[in-house]
Amino acid sequence: MRLAKRKLKNAIVTYEIENTNEQRKPTGRLTRLAKGLVILALLILVMRLVFFSGPYQPVAKRYAEPIFDMHCHTAGIGAGGSGCFVSKELRNNFRFNIYLKAFGVTLAEVEAKGDQLLIERLAKRVEESERVGAAIILAMDGVIGDDGKLDRDRTEFFIPNEYVAKETAKYPNLRFGASINPHRPDALERLQWARDNGAMLVKWLPSIQFIDPSAKSLEPFYRKLVELNLPLLTHAGAERSFTHARDELADPVRLKLPLDLGVKVIVAHTASTGENAGEEDIDRLIAMLETYPNLFADISSMTQINKLGYLQKTLAEKKFEGKLLYGSDFPLINTAAVSPWYFPLNLTREQMQTISSIENPWDRDVELKEALGMPVAIFAKPAEFFGITWPTVGETPAN
Ligand SMILES: [Zn+2]
Repeated sequence: MRLAKRKLKNAIVTYEIENTNEQRKPTGRLTRLAKGLVILALLILVMRLVFFSGPYQPVAKRYAEPIFDMHCHTAGIGAGGSGCFVSKELRNNFRFNIYLKAFGVTLAEVEAKGDQLLIERLAKRVEESERVGAAIILAMDGVIGDDGKLDRDRTEFFIPNEYVAKETAKYPNLRFGASINPHRPDALERLQWARDNGAMLVKWLPSIQFIDPSAKSLEPFYRKLVELNLPLLTHAGAERSFTHARDELADPVRLKLPLDLGVKVIVAHTASTGENAGEEDIDRLIAMLETYPNLFADISSMTQINKLGYLQKTLAEKKFEGKLLYGSDFPLINTAAVSPWYFPLNLTREQMQTISSIENPWDRDVELKEALGMPVAIFAKPAEFFGITWPTVGETPAN
């Protein structure tokens, strides 16, 4: 009995000691955590000193002309009679709020003032930009069902051409980028309409709009593009900005049909991130560059954290020379997916700090790409490609 009592007493004492330790622990843990963090920071510093390699390419002279951004998005929920819509799925997705924030609007504002507010804010920010002078705003067609009608259930995100054409016409620094699903029964008339209403290109997202660019049935559409001299800006590579995608349709090799027919094709973000037939999509694109003088690519969204290696590869690839166009992929450049802090081995701390403190999303984007060594030719290319000549202040840009 006495033994049992002693054991119990010992147990209580042990418990009390442990408990006291338990109370002390948080400070001890914090100290350990702080020590750990200091060691980690030192390690990162040392690694940086050892592995710092500077910009991907030698930094060229700053491009002095205004830049023409050929790849910008808008969005809409249908407010203000825009005709836009976002699927319930995307609306409930975490990305929806990120996008709204990136556009610099709140849902309440959009509901009150209409989707037009997004384009108004966009035009203002481009106007405020010291580097970008004008931008193409892209419409976004949806999935077309077997009945030839827009399949709203399978369309995540819809921005009508009529809406973008009308809104961009209000601002001298915005241009209309059409989007036409070739499966629409009146696709050719729509192409003509787009051209007559100032469209500078036609944008496809094959993996989202369920378009197979290699389908023979699309030949009339391609011939009409050639006739109207409308380039096709098409997404290739994996698509992660939406909730689901059919990535096999984004294989660059499927673009051989329009290329053979003479369509000017611009492959968005150099087909980075996807793969098909056991090969990286970007490699499948590179293999086609020399064959087709009418094949181009844009570098939009390539500073995103998930594409870092691709930007370096693209800039180093000689076959891309003369074929790359600057695009921002706004609003993505204005989200946490893009930051100069993701380039600690290529930018100095001062550069990362200076660039991240730039308020204007386009200026920040250009400065970041420039600091990484993107050559002047890429910034100059869109204006040349689309025949943009810069006006003196106050005039409407001509093309
Ligand atoms: Zn885009």
